[in-house]
Amino acid sequence: MDRTLAVESIKKIGQKVKLQGWVDTRRDHGKLIFLDLRDRSGIIQVVCGQEAKSLRPEFVVEIEGEVNKRPKNLVNPKIETGEVEVKATKFTVLNESKTPPFPIDTDGYDIEEDLRLKYRYLDLRRKRLQKNIKLRSKLVEIARQYLFENDFVEIETPILTKSTPEGSRDFIVPSRFQKGKFYALPQSPQQYKQLLMIAGFEKYFQIARCLRDEDLRSDRAFEHTQIDLEMSFVKREDVMAMTEGLATQVFEKMGAKIFKKPFPVFTYEEAMKKFGSDKFDLRAEGEKKPNTFAFAWVVDFPFFVKDANSKWTYSHNPFSDLAPDDKEAFLRGQIEGIKTCQYDLVANGVEMGGGSIRSNDGQILTKVFEVLGHKRKDIEEKFGHMLEAFAYGAPPHGGIACGIDRWLMLLTGEKDIREVIPFPMTSTGRTAVMDAPSDVDKETLKELGIRQL
Ligand code: ASP
Repeated sequence: MDRTLAVESIKKIGQKVKLQGWVDTRRDHGKLIFLDLRDRSGIIQVVCGQEAKSLRPEFVVEIEGEVNKRPKNLVNPKIETGEVEVKATKFTVLNESKTPPFPIDTDGYDIEEDLRLKYRYLDLRRKRLQKNIKLRSKLVEIARQYLFENDFVEIETPILTKSTPEGSRDFIVPSRFQKGKFYALPQSPQQYKQLLMIAGFEKYFQIARCLRDEDLRSDRAFEHTQIDLEMSFVKREDVMAMTEGLATQVFEKMGAKIFKKPFPVFTYEEAMKKFGSDKFDLRAEGEKKPNTFAFAWVVDFPFFVKDANSKWTYSHNPFSDLAPDDKEAFLRGQIEGIKTCQYDLVANGVEMGGGSIRSNDGQILTKVFEVLGHKRKDIEEKFGHMLEAFAYGAPPHGGIACGIDRWLMLLTGEKDIREVIPFPMTSTGRTAVMDAPSDVDKETLKELGIRQL
């Protein structure tokens, strides 16, 4: 007999079925024992005799039996299969389970985070997380579909690479072949996607993992995933329109409403004046409705800002182009007030994405890095490959990256980014279940040419 999923049983009243799954709960009613059996589709009630006495929650079982309609007064409207139950004729234990360290049939918010993450594979069994992770997969599916329809090519870029600045610290990986040298894990695929434009692909995207060693917060992790894209022969309006189409398709197909279409556009100055922030909520208090998202664009950011030590740093992305009207002034030496071609996407007070039209002019790029405090030699060493690539027919290009974790947080209404990531880090930066970082044996370190202090 083929397996029937719990929810499919509704269509098989009066028939024999074989179910496989986990014991969700067990209720003893004298001679009869009621099990809730859980599989990937949902839950179904199974009626057994005393032979089910040995079953405990989270045992993996196979049950054969007949699907019956429940008497009217016993219908459970709270579950999809609430009108039926399976009368078991045979059951087999496929695997036993220890008593889980915490309940699985609750939303889990009140359980200590470290414990939830230590047993993440059990934590993920709960309905809320099953739903979040499946929505994540759905989101990626819709995004891919949209991008393929729009002629994008999905291309992977390296994980072991050289530092690419996104304003965070790098995670570095020692090289065994070249002792004393290190790879950096990518803070983003920024440089590779620009190289792919020079390579002539014109429309690239990637569901890209980005690694940034920065302080962990409820909306920020060491690793995040972004829908990363880049396009050639475009102006900022083109990238913004493509992204707007993407966000609209994803949010609407996932059942959300969009507050205003097309997305309103504000300059940075206007946003600061009107909302006091460049990550604002368009809506007045009375206009906020559940499952509605108020997207807006922010443009015309200053290229350079002063850091805590009063040194110039970039506000967003050093590879951005300058606003066309500001180029001349910049080449004459002006820094303050020079604007970038950056655009940020915000919704409901959250930063949803950001990108820019890039500079494809080596001279401007070199001057930007000089303003940022790099010496010529340093620029050559760190970014010489980009300057060289720009000398071989680099098309005008621009792109954007949108944070999937943030999009999902909004769509699910979760307050913590960990609730939409399958295996997130703890708040102290330890990995779920495997508890890294961990010690490395002396031999490995020796092979890498590393001596511990
Ligand atoms: N590289 C940028 C980021 O990761 C996005 C972009 O400019 O395309 O935030």
